Amino acid sequence: MARLPVVGGNWKMNTNRAEARALLSALRADLDGLTGTQVAICPPAPWLGDAADMLAGSTLDVGAQDVHWEAKGAFTGAYSAPMLAGVASWVIVGHSERRHVFGETSEQTNAKLRAVLAAGLRPILAVGERREETDRVSDILHTQLTEGFAGLDRLPAEVVIAYEPVWAIGTGLAATPEDAQARCALIRSMLAERFDAPSAEACRIQYGGSVTAQNIDGYAKQPDIDGALVGGASLDAVAFGAICRAVAAA
Ligand code: PEP
Repeated sequence: MARLPVVGGNWKMNTNRAEARALLSALRADLDGLTGTQVAICPPAPWLGDAADMLAGSTLDVGAQDVHWEAKGAFTGAYSAPMLAGVASWVIVGHSERRHVFGETSEQTNAKLRAVLAAGLRPILAVGERREETDRVSDILHTQLTEGFAGLDRLPAEVVIAYEPVWAIGTGLAATPEDAQARCALIRSMLAERFDAPSAEACRIQYGGSVTAQNIDGYAKQPDIDGALVGGASLDAVAFGAICRAVAAA
C-alpha cells in the first residue's frame, strides 16, 4: 500500500517573531504545491497564529509541539486541543523532551493523544528508546505504544508515529537507515498486533533524530519509513526544503 509521507519541522523553542515570519515566508515560497509528501510546520506556540495566517491557502500545514489534555480550566501557561483547532492541524505528543525534560508520563501522553483526536486534529506520537535502553528497544517501544494508545479500540487514520531514538535527537548521531527501518517495521508489527493489519499497514511512521539534507535519502527509501520529524534542520529553510523534496521524490 502506498502511504503518503509526512515531514514535520519541529522548531522547538527557537526563533524570535521576525525570524519565525521570515522562515515561514521562505518555506511557503519554496514548498507550497509540493506533492508526494505532507509538510507540517511546528513553530513555538506564540507564533502559531502567524503560521496559520502566513500558510493559509498553501499546501503547508501548521502543527503544535505540545498540548494540554484538558479542554479548558486553571492550567496557567497551557493551551488545549480545542484552542488549536482552526490554527493547527497537527500536534506532536510525547516528544522525548516532554517526557524526559518535563517529566511527562505515559498517562499524560495518552490523555493528550486522545484530546487531540477528540478535537479533530492529527497527533504525531513520538516514541523511542534512550541510550541506556538500547538493549531492550522492543520492550520500550511496546510499552510506549501500549500506554500511548490506552483506551483506543482502533487506530485512527489521523495518527502518525515518529520513531525517534532519544540518543539521536539533536546529537548528530543519527540512527543508520537500516536500524531505523528495522525499528519502524517493528513498530508496524506491534500496531498490527495491538489493532489490526490493515490499519497498521496504513499508518505513517516517521524517523526522527539528526535528520539532515545530507542523510535524508537513506531514510526516505526505506519501505517502512514514511517521512521524518526534523528538529535542528527545520530551522534552515534551504535544508528543510531539500529534506521535503527528497522525501517527496523517494
Ligand atoms: C526532534 O526534535 O524531534 C528531532 C528529531 O530533533 P533533531 O532533528 O535536531 O535531532
